[in-house]
Amino acid sequence: MKDFFRVVKKSKKSKARIGILKTSHGEIETPCFVPVATQAVVKTLTSEEAEAAKCQILIANTFHLHLKPGEKIVKSNGGIHKFMNWNRPLMTDSGGFQVFSLGFGRDLGVGKIMKSGAGALVKVGQQPQNIKIIDDGVWFRSPVDGRKLFIGPKESMKIQEAIGADIIFAFDECTPPLADYEYTKKSLIKTHEWAIASLKNKGKKQALFGIVQGGKFKDLRIESAKFIANLPFDGFGIGGEFGDNKNTMIKMIDWVVKELPENKPRHLLGIGHPEDILKIIKSGIDTFDCVMPTHYARHGIAFASSGRLDMSKPIFLKDKKPLDKKCDCMVCRNYTRSYIGHLLKAKEITALRLLTFHNLYFFNSLVEKIRNDIKKEKV
Ligand SMILES: [Zn+2]
Repeated sequence: MKDFFRVVKKSKKSKARIGILKTSHGEIETPCFVPVATQAVVKTLTSEEAEAAKCQILIANTFHLHLKPGEKIVKSNGGIHKFMNWNRPLMTDSGGFQVFSLGFGRDLGVGKIMKSGAGALVKVGQQPQNIKIIDDGVWFRSPVDGRKLFIGPKESMKIQEAIGADIIFAFDECTPPLADYEYTKKSLIKTHEWAIASLKNKGKKQALFGIVQGGKFKDLRIESAKFIANLPFDGFGIGGEFGDNKNTMIKMIDWVVKELPENKPRHLLGIGHPEDILKIIKSGIDTFDCVMPTHYARHGIAFASSGRLDMSKPIFLKDKKPLDKKCDCMVCRNYTRSYIGHLLKAKEITALRLLTFHNLYFFNSLVEKIRNDIKKEKV
């Protein structure tokens, strides 16, 4: 894609950079946080509110939209932008994460980052209980009605083309953190074949990102980054697990980023805790998505410059301060912790809406500040 991405400033202090990513639905300035809109909605908010919370771009979920309402419905509405009235850039993931989350992730009850001490439990030749991974793709069982459905690179590209996001991802296997070396190596061969098949089957209008896998193994990560970097993708995703703890995560990003071309964007899939964001950006990541601000909001947690606040605690009922004194969002300008604490206790939906709005504004402002710091040569 011509003029899709350009780096406008490189930091002298780190690998951080400022970039402009240009789509037919406008430009975004990177580094940029990508809030999650799994079912074509940022849960609890309207698209206008997501924009007011400084969101530049959202990521929707291919697998879930394929199940509900189905890509035909989205397409018949004029594509996902019109469907959800979001006129800014959009991404869709490929369904590859569900190979993990509905597969070994579900079997073993683990997320992408493991606490240390767990041994390798997934060995070569092993299959998850509820899905079947074959050469051309993956047989899933629908979490909605239990029917069998098949998604491979071809299917994923067709679905993503019909949904119509600006940026789409290649279909891959997101390997579990408990996979051993042999399993991860074999899985990587498949992910690389699927990357080529994704390129062959993609539509013309969308930017396609390849995904680097390779688990926690340095040689496999580098091999994958080299392989994917050599294919004509418009950008790159870094997927899969990120080691036993977050320190190894940055090391792994470093192995991969070194192999990726300077002039194309790099997206970190599914990671972005506030305490990691600066490190991630300094490692040369341009965009990253994470459910954290929205997910935690729905569990009554507010992110503030002083740390996380569990707004369900009775102490906040007497607290007349805003969620965050330093935040100038619509919620912090107009509502107190006391009121939000009351709404939560009273199980009023508005509590979750206010917390979601503030949390997104907080994350987006944090990344905006880092962008400004890069421009001022501070980062
Ligand atoms: Zn706020």
